[in-house]
Amino acid sequence: MMLGPPGSGKGTQALILRRRWGIPHISTGAILREAVQAGTPLGLVAKGIMEQGGLVDDGVITGIVTERLQQPDARKGFLLDGFPRTIPQAEALDGFLGARPIIVVDIVLSDEDVLRRLAARMICSECGINAQDDNGEQRCHDCGGRLVPRADDAAQVVQNRLTVYHRQTAPLVEYYRTRPGYCRINGAQLPDDVSTEIVRCVEGALGT
Ligand code: AMP
Repeated sequence: MMLGPPGSGKGTQALILRRRWGIPHISTGAILREAVQAGTPLGLVAKGIMEQGGLVDDGVITGIVTERLQQPDARKGFLLDGFPRTIPQAEALDGFLGARPIIVVDIVLSDEDVLRRLAARMICSECGINAQDDNGEQRCHDCGGRLVPRADDAAQVVQNRLTVYHRQTAPLVEYYRTRPGYCRINGAQLPDDVSTEIVRCVEGALGT
Protein backbone atom coordinates (compact mmCIF):
# COMPACT_ATOMS: atom_id res chain seq x y z
CA MET A 1 0.00 0.00 0.00
CA MET A 2 1.23 3.46 -0.92
CA LEU A 3 0.75 6.12 1.72
CA GLY A 4 1.75 9.74 1.19
CA PRO A 5 0.41 13.18 0.29
CA PRO A 6 -0.93 14.09 -3.15
CA GLY A 7 1.93 14.38 -5.63
CA SER A 8 4.34 12.25 -3.58
CA GLY A 9 4.65 9.78 -6.44
CA LYS A 10 2.29 7.00 -5.31
CA GLY A 11 0.82 6.54 -8.79
CA THR A 12 4.16 6.81 -10.58
CA GLN A 13 5.70 4.21 -8.29
CA ALA A 14 2.69 1.91 -8.51
CA LEU A 15 3.00 1.88 -12.31
CA ILE A 16 6.70 0.98 -12.12
CA LEU A 17 6.16 -1.69 -9.46
CA ARG A 18 3.13 -3.19 -11.16
CA ARG A 19 5.38 -4.09 -14.09
CA ARG A 20 8.06 -5.47 -11.78
CA TRP A 21 5.80 -7.71 -9.74
CA GLY A 22 2.96 -8.37 -12.19
CA ILE A 23 0.24 -7.48 -9.69
CA PRO A 24 -2.68 -5.09 -10.31
CA HIS A 25 -2.45 -1.41 -9.49
CA ILE A 26 -5.63 -0.34 -7.76
CA SER A 27 -5.97 3.45 -7.72
CA THR A 28 -9.17 4.72 -6.13
CA GLY A 29 -8.56 8.14 -7.72
CA ALA A 30 -8.34 6.53 -11.18
CA ILE A 31 -11.50 4.45 -10.54
CA LEU A 32 -13.36 7.61 -9.51
CA ARG A 33 -12.05 9.69 -12.45
CA GLU A 34 -13.22 6.96 -14.85
CA ALA A 35 -16.65 6.95 -13.19
CA VAL A 36 -16.86 10.75 -13.51
CA GLN A 37 -15.89 10.58 -17.18
CA ALA A 38 -18.43 7.83 -17.85
CA GLY A 39 -21.16 9.71 -15.96
CA THR A 40 -22.11 6.69 -13.83
CA PRO A 41 -24.13 7.19 -10.60
CA LEU A 42 -20.85 6.91 -8.63
CA GLY A 43 -19.27 9.48 -10.95
CA LEU A 44 -22.13 11.92 -10.42
CA VAL A 45 -21.69 11.68 -6.64
CA ALA A 46 -17.89 11.86 -6.77
CA LYS A 47 -17.52 14.73 -9.25
CA GLY A 48 -18.34 17.66 -6.98
CA ILE A 49 -16.41 16.18 -4.04
CA MET A 50 -13.30 15.65 -6.15
CA GLU A 51 -13.51 19.10 -7.71
CA GLN A 52 -13.32 20.57 -4.23
CA GLY A 53 -10.57 18.24 -3.05
CA GLY A 54 -12.79 16.51 -0.47
CA LEU A 55 -13.08 12.78 0.23
CA VAL A 56 -15.72 10.43 -1.11
CA ASP A 57 -17.76 8.65 1.60
CA ASP A 58 -15.85 5.91 3.45
CA GLY A 59 -18.58 3.30 2.95
CA VAL A 60 -18.80 3.94 -0.79
CA ILE A 61 -15.06 3.80 -1.39
CA THR A 62 -14.53 0.79 0.88
CA GLY A 63 -17.23 -1.09 -1.01
CA ILE A 64 -15.52 -0.36 -4.32
CA VAL A 65 -12.11 -1.46 -3.08
CA THR A 66 -13.21 -4.66 -1.35
CA GLU A 67 -15.11 -5.69 -4.46
CA ARG A 68 -12.03 -5.00 -6.61
CA LEU A 69 -9.76 -6.94 -4.24
CA GLN A 70 -11.92 -10.03 -4.68
CA GLN A 71 -11.19 -10.20 -8.41
CA PRO A 72 -8.99 -13.17 -9.42
CA ASP A 73 -6.07 -10.98 -10.55
CA ALA A 74 -5.65 -9.63 -6.99
CA ARG A 75 -5.30 -13.05 -5.40
CA LYS A 76 -1.49 -13.04 -5.39
CA GLY A 77 -1.18 -9.44 -4.25
CA PHE A 78 -1.98 -5.92 -5.32
CA LEU A 79 -0.75 -2.34 -5.11
CA LEU A 80 -3.11 0.04 -3.37
CA ASP A 81 -2.72 3.68 -4.41
CA GLY A 82 -4.92 6.27 -2.69
CA PHE A 83 -6.64 3.83 -0.32
CA PRO A 84 -6.99 3.86 2.63
CA ARG A 85 -7.21 7.61 3.20
CA THR A 86 -8.97 7.64 6.57
CA ILE A 87 -8.85 5.58 9.76
CA PRO A 88 -12.28 3.98 9.09
CA GLN A 89 -11.03 2.93 5.64
CA ALA A 90 -7.89 1.42 7.21
CA GLU A 91 -10.01 -0.45 9.75
CA ALA A 92 -12.24 -1.77 6.97
CA LEU A 93 -9.15 -2.92 5.05
CA ASP A 94 -7.82 -4.71 8.14
CA GLY A 95 -11.19 -6.41 8.51
CA PHE A 96 -11.10 -7.51 4.89
CA LEU A 97 -7.48 -8.76 4.99
CA GLY A 98 -7.70 -10.60 8.29
CA ALA A 99 -4.33 -12.27 8.93
CA ARG A 100 -2.97 -11.58 5.43
CA PRO A 101 0.05 -9.26 5.69
CA ILE A 102 0.21 -5.77 4.25
CA ILE A 103 3.33 -3.76 3.49
CA VAL A 104 2.91 -0.01 3.98
CA VAL A 105 5.16 2.26 1.95
CA ASP A 106 4.97 5.75 3.42
CA ILE A 107 6.31 8.23 0.86
CA VAL A 108 7.30 11.43 2.63
CA LEU A 109 7.23 14.79 0.83
CA SER A 110 7.06 18.35 2.20
CA ASP A 111 4.07 20.60 1.50
CA GLU A 112 6.36 22.92 -0.50
CA ASP A 113 7.41 20.06 -2.77
CA VAL A 114 3.77 18.91 -3.12
CA LEU A 115 2.69 22.38 -4.24
CA ARG A 116 5.58 22.70 -6.68
CA ARG A 117 4.98 19.27 -8.22
CA LEU A 118 1.23 19.52 -8.59
CA ALA A 119 1.49 22.94 -10.24
CA ALA A 120 3.47 21.26 -13.03
CA ARG A 121 1.68 17.88 -13.24
CA MET A 122 -0.03 16.82 -16.45
CA ILE A 123 -2.19 13.77 -17.13
CA CYS A 124 -3.32 12.15 -20.36
CA SER A 125 -6.85 13.15 -21.29
CA GLU A 126 -7.38 9.71 -22.89
CA CYS A 127 -5.82 7.06 -20.64
CA GLY A 128 -5.50 9.13 -17.46
CA ILE A 129 -1.90 8.27 -16.58
CA ASN A 130 0.48 10.85 -15.17
CA ALA A 131 2.67 12.07 -17.96
CA GLN A 132 5.69 14.18 -18.54
CA ASP A 133 5.75 16.43 -21.58
CA ASP A 134 9.34 15.44 -22.46
CA ASN A 135 9.05 16.07 -26.16
CA GLY A 136 7.14 19.35 -25.89
CA GLU A 137 4.32 17.92 -28.03
CA GLN A 138 1.78 17.68 -25.20
CA ARG A 139 1.01 14.08 -26.19
CA CYS A 140 0.96 10.96 -24.02
CA HIS A 141 3.88 8.52 -24.48
CA ASP A 142 1.58 5.52 -24.10
CA CYS A 143 -1.48 6.31 -26.20
CA GLY A 144 -0.81 9.63 -27.95
CA GLY A 145 -3.67 11.34 -26.08
CA ARG A 146 -3.54 15.08 -25.32
CA LEU A 147 -1.86 16.06 -22.04
CA VAL A 148 -3.88 18.32 -19.74
CA PRO A 149 -3.51 19.57 -16.15
CA ARG A 150 -5.61 17.54 -13.68
CA ALA A 151 -8.72 19.51 -12.70
CA ASP A 152 -8.08 19.03 -8.98
CA ASP A 153 -4.46 20.21 -9.29
CA ALA A 154 -5.68 23.82 -9.52
CA ALA A 155 -3.98 25.86 -6.77
CA GLN A 156 -7.01 26.45 -4.52
CA VAL A 157 -8.09 22.77 -4.73
CA VAL A 158 -4.59 21.58 -3.91
CA GLN A 159 -4.62 23.62 -0.71
CA ASN A 160 -7.81 21.86 0.33
CA ARG A 161 -6.42 18.44 -0.61
CA LEU A 162 -3.38 19.11 1.56
CA THR A 163 -5.54 20.20 4.48
CA VAL A 164 -7.65 17.05 4.09
CA TYR A 165 -4.46 14.98 3.87
CA HIS A 166 -3.05 16.38 7.12
CA ARG A 167 -6.37 16.07 8.95
CA GLN A 168 -7.64 12.70 7.73
CA THR A 169 -4.87 10.74 6.03
CA ALA A 170 -1.69 11.64 7.95
CA PRO A 171 -3.08 9.94 11.13
CA LEU A 172 -2.67 6.67 9.22
CA VAL A 173 1.09 6.98 9.69
CA GLU A 174 0.55 6.56 13.43
CA TYR A 175 -1.95 3.75 12.73
CA TYR A 176 0.62 1.71 10.74
CA ARG A 177 4.00 2.98 12.00
CA THR A 178 4.67 0.29 14.58
CA ARG A 179 3.61 -2.66 12.44
CA PRO A 180 6.05 -4.99 10.74
CA GLY A 181 6.12 -4.14 7.05
CA TYR A 182 5.96 -0.36 7.53
CA CYS A 183 8.63 1.64 5.75
CA ARG A 184 9.29 5.33 5.33
CA ILE A 185 10.70 6.51 2.03
CA ASN A 186 12.08 9.93 1.06
CA GLY A 187 9.81 10.97 -1.82
CA ALA A 188 11.96 13.94 -2.82
CA GLN A 189 14.45 11.64 -4.57
CA LEU A 190 14.46 10.80 -8.27
CA PRO A 191 11.69 8.30 -9.17
CA ASP A 192 14.19 5.48 -9.87
CA ASP A 193 15.80 5.98 -6.46
CA VAL A 194 12.38 5.94 -4.78
CA SER A 195 11.60 2.65 -6.59
CA THR A 196 14.91 1.12 -5.49
CA GLU A 197 14.13 1.95 -1.87
CA ILE A 198 10.60 0.59 -2.15
CA VAL A 199 11.83 -2.67 -3.66
CA ARG A 200 14.41 -3.00 -0.86
CA CYS A 201 11.70 -2.40 1.74
CA VAL A 202 9.19 -4.81 0.22
CA GLU A 203 11.74 -7.57 -0.37
CA GLY A 204 13.01 -7.09 3.19
CA ALA A 205 9.49 -7.38 4.57
CA LEU A 206 8.81 -10.50 2.50
CA GLY A 207 12.19 -12.00 3.42
CA THR A 208 13.14 -12.47 -0.25
P1 AMP B 1 -5.97 10.65 -6.14
O1 AMP B 1 -5.90 10.38 -7.61
O2 AMP B 1 -5.55 9.48 -5.30
O3 AMP B 1 -5.23 11.91 -5.76
O4 AMP B 1 -7.52 10.90 -5.79
C1 AMP B 1 -8.23 11.96 -6.38
C2 AMP B 1 -9.47 12.27 -5.57
O5 AMP B 1 -10.33 11.13 -5.53
C3 AMP B 1 -9.25 12.62 -4.11
O6 AMP B 1 -8.89 13.99 -3.94
C4 AMP B 1 -10.59 12.29 -3.49
O7 AMP B 1 -11.54 13.28 -3.79
C5 AMP B 1 -11.00 11.03 -4.26
N1 AMP B 1 -10.49 9.81 -3.59
C6 AMP B 1 -9.50 8.97 -4.03
N2 AMP B 1 -9.29 7.98 -3.17
C7 AMP B 1 -10.14 8.16 -2.15
C8 AMP B 1 -10.38 7.48 -0.92
N3 AMP B 1 -9.69 6.39 -0.56
N4 AMP B 1 -11.35 7.98 -0.10
C9 AMP B 1 -12.07 9.06 -0.42
N5 AMP B 1 -11.88 9.77 -1.56
C10 AMP B 1 -10.92 9.34 -2.41
